[in-house]
Amino acid sequence: MTTERAPESYLRLMPKVELHCHLEGSVPAATAVALARRNGTELPTMDPDTLYRFDDLEGFLDIYRAVSRAMVSAADFATVTYDSLVDAARTSNLRYREMAFNPTNHPGVPLADMLTGISEGIQSAERDCGVVGRIIVAFNREQPPELATELVRMVADADSPHVLGVGLDHNELSGPPQLFVDAYAIARAAGLARTAHAGERGNVAEVADTIGLLDVDRIDHGYAVLQSADLIRQSIDRGLHYAACWSTSAFHERGGQVSSPIAAMAAAGLDVSVSSDDPPFFATDIGSEYVQAGESIGWDRVQARQQVLRTAAATFLPPAERAALCARLAAEFDAYDET
Ligand SMILES: [Zn+2]
Repeated sequence: MTTERAPESYLRLMPKVELHCHLEGSVPAATAVALARRNGTELPTMDPDTLYRFDDLEGFLDIYRAVSRAMVSAADFATVTYDSLVDAARTSNLRYREMAFNPTNHPGVPLADMLTGISEGIQSAERDCGVVGRIIVAFNREQPPELATELVRMVADADSPHVLGVGLDHNELSGPPQLFVDAYAIARAAGLARTAHAGERGNVAEVADTIGLLDVDRIDHGYAVLQSADLIRQSIDRGLHYAACWSTSAFHERGGQVSSPIAAMAAAGLDVSVSSDDPPFFATDIGSEYVQAGESIGWDRVQARQQVLRTAAATFLPPAERAALCARLAAEFDAYDET
């Protein structure tokens, strides 16, 4: 083992875990076009080369919703889930992913069909590539909170073995956490783990309210936490994990250097991981996310391994399955380091 920085090739092909990836945001453009043609739904363009072009978050969400509407049958959900997991396993050696999906973005599609299809895709991907997928049911915060309350009750009743928790996503500038207190309380009572997007566009008060009112186990993004030493301390004390995304958080400083708040979060002692968010929309994959984070923060091989194992420890798996995942990853790293 060496303390030299881990090379790009090492970071790209080491075993990986990610906790923040949207199912509907991980549909390859060609798959989205094929599904829209098959199901007779509309996309902003039927040209896969230009489908994922947008100028801002609102433009991104317009396309995301259109791609979501193209997924209407259990088979569509199985295809998307399988393709997304297998692609990440093959390009980036992804071993485990928790994927958020938005049932209310698929009006008219029964929840049972969506869950059946996703479960089929998860099982096929694990059989073919050994990659494990699990599901977070996400509330679209731009929609009325009553929809979230209704949805979480249905999810609790469905009792899918692959659904581990709930999340809150879409535009943080609408749908503050206060509106979703009931939905999160129902999730907690049903034994579902809880995460929520906060502090990406929202401010530090949004992060504090999300932690305080929704009793979350994780925060997605959460960059605004850096504005409050008190909230950083609270987060560390309660073992809160921040599931961040390098590409979507990064910006170009003067001089062309790429920077991200994730390095500062790690330096502040926060438990923070990197994920791919909506990979084809942002022309990235989970391998690239780890490469960018590792090269920017300067991980050596030991630190890269520790990063993956810390991320595995923050999964929503039941404790015995989580321990088994960590042990499996440690063994895979041992084998990888010997090659
Ligand atoms: Zn996200």
